[in-house]
Amino acid sequence: MRFAIFSDVHSNLHALEAVLADSRENNCSHYVCLGDIVGYNAFPAECVAKIRELDCPVVKGNHDELASMLSSGEGFNELAEEAIQYSRECLSEDDKNWLRNLRLQRQVRDFTIVHATLDTPHKWGYIFNALDAAGSFSYQHTTLCFIGHTHSPRVYVRDSTIQALPTFTEISIEPGKKYLINVGSVGQPRDGNWRAAYCIYDTQENVVKLRRVTYDLNSTQEAILAAGLPAKLAERLAYGK
Ligand code: ZN
Repeated sequence: MRFAIFSDVHSNLHALEAVLADSRENNCSHYVCLGDIVGYNAFPAECVAKIRELDCPVVKGNHDELASMLSSGEGFNELAEEAIQYSRECLSEDDKNWLRNLRLQRQVRDFTIVHATLDTPHKWGYIFNALDAAGSFSYQHTTLCFIGHTHSPRVYVRDSTIQALPTFTEISIEPGKKYLINVGSVGQPRDGNWRAAYCIYDTQENVVKLRRVTYDLNSTQEAILAAGLPAKLAERLAYGK
């Protein structure tokens, strides 16, 4: 089986379509979405529709949670908040219900999926280093767990210690170890690379590959401006920030 595992689409329809096309070219038969389908970019309803069509396992992200609520409360940054309000306006009640009812974590076949962390998934903490990863690993009962949330692809390997691999293109899964794999972001990468990121997990070969996919950046930026969203949200995409 070949799984295409993706996260943080954030209403970037052009990037999502490019990722789905790339996954089909690479013979993926199954899809998994790690949340944050909405927020930031111009096409929340279209992205929700595409992912609902895939009929695949999905977990909830913090932007999905906020967009499906009536108001956000405190503590969300201004840029993100404007896009959340825009997402709320675009989404149907049915889409909001669907987002609201997504689970925080799931097991899919022999691996676990969660948007942020396994130790406190509802608190939306960030895993930036091996120390952060330790808390999540203590709740990880499968060899593999896939996460998103930071928008930077990264692998943490737990053997006798925890090792962080800041860059990776391909990881062979070895017995006796545990892997916490951040698949990066489809719709708003923040690792300095503007190309959409996702992972392919081949269960026969026991390999996880990171893919980077080019997409129509200009049309995406134009749509953000046309939607009346902040120009900064369009600009940052070109820098992968
Ligand atoms: Zn996100």
